[in-house]
Amino acid sequence: MAYPITLIPGDGIGPEVADATVRALDACGVAIEWERVEAGARALAEYGQLIPDEVFASLEYTRVGLKGPTATPIGGGHQSINVALRKKLGLSTNFRPVRMLPGLKTRFHDLPLDMAIFRENTEDLYSGLEHEVVPGVVESLKIITQTASMKIARAAFGYARREGRKKVTAIHKANIMKMSDGLFLKCCRETASQFPEVQYNELIVDNACMQLVMRPESFDLLVMPNLYGDIISDLAAGLVGGLGIVPGANLGDRYAIFEAVHGTAPDIAGKGLANPTALMQSAVLMLGHLGERAASNRLQSAIYKVYEAGEHLTGDVGGKAGTAEFTEAVIAAL
Ligand code: NAD
Repeated sequence: MAYPITLIPGDGIGPEVADATVRALDACGVAIEWERVEAGARALAEYGQLIPDEVFASLEYTRVGLKGPTATPIGGGHQSINVALRKKLGLSTNFRPVRMLPGLKTRFHDLPLDMAIFRENTEDLYSGLEHEVVPGVVESLKIITQTASMKIARAAFGYARREGRKKVTAIHKANIMKMSDGLFLKCCRETASQFPEVQYNELIVDNACMQLVMRPESFDLLVMPNLYGDIISDLAAGLVGGLGIVPGANLGDRYAIFEAVHGTAPDIAGKGLANPTALMQSAVLMLGHLGERAASNRLQSAIYKVYEAGEHLTGDVGGKAGTAEFTEAVIAAL
């Protein structure tokens, strides 16, 4: 029986990396029934809706999505589709594993980096609650709830227990935001007390950024509210070769959407240059979620083999290949 999956190619490089990933998944031999729907700038232009109803109808049926990046205008315009989807579908956990790829030369390639980032995905300053109090004074509400904080803390510690991770680091700014980040920390501490086998420590976000650059190998699993998670994910991606590499999963009780950390990369969109590794590695996570462990491992090893050989890598990681050549190499390695 084929797995029904909703495919949202997205904007910019989205369709390029989505097509590459669909080809790699086809070559894995797992039967998938794709429901291709549009969301984002293209959907707005074509259907007059940022997230057309058919996106939700499809996800209602499939429960699982593979999504390319979608564009969000800066300083005005429509709200982020990602924020809207994550909130509406209750995708409270954003999971981003950050690993060094074999053979890839980066500034830190001699370090065995392997960390997991758990980012709360539905609240914090992403609640989108902003208003002008009086002309010249604007307020943006940072919402932190006990429910969402406990959920992400439990997701992080649960993963640590299942995967044998040694240490969870909670990242915060509770020295300044004593109540909001204070509540987040309280939830992490309470959860930590139920997982005595996992080491627990806390770092203020600015210090965490410095330590991540100075001693990235000392990090194992990181858990944090939404905004710090957004920033630290990109910082961590930079440690292992950039945004072309790092995958992600948005997980809720009912739905799951797999998407890379990167955005629409407007500077290279439509040129056949995008690195599809990040979305392919998101598909590795998706196959694991579907229970297709063997296929998940096969796709992951094929990606590793292409990086080890180093002959068909894209420009962002120092190679000369385009999206198509890299994809062919992964398919050949499968
Ligand atoms: P970006 O991630 O699109 O690009 C940052 C840099 O990384 C660019 O130089 C780009 O070329 C490079 N890059 C990113 N992905 C790459 C890939 N797969 N292969 C090769 N190079 C890659 O970040 P940005 O420029 O800040 O954002 C552009 C747009 O993307 C904005 O509208 C933003 O809102 C949106 N965005 C969407 C998502 C999402 O949908 N999940 C995430 C982040 C940003």
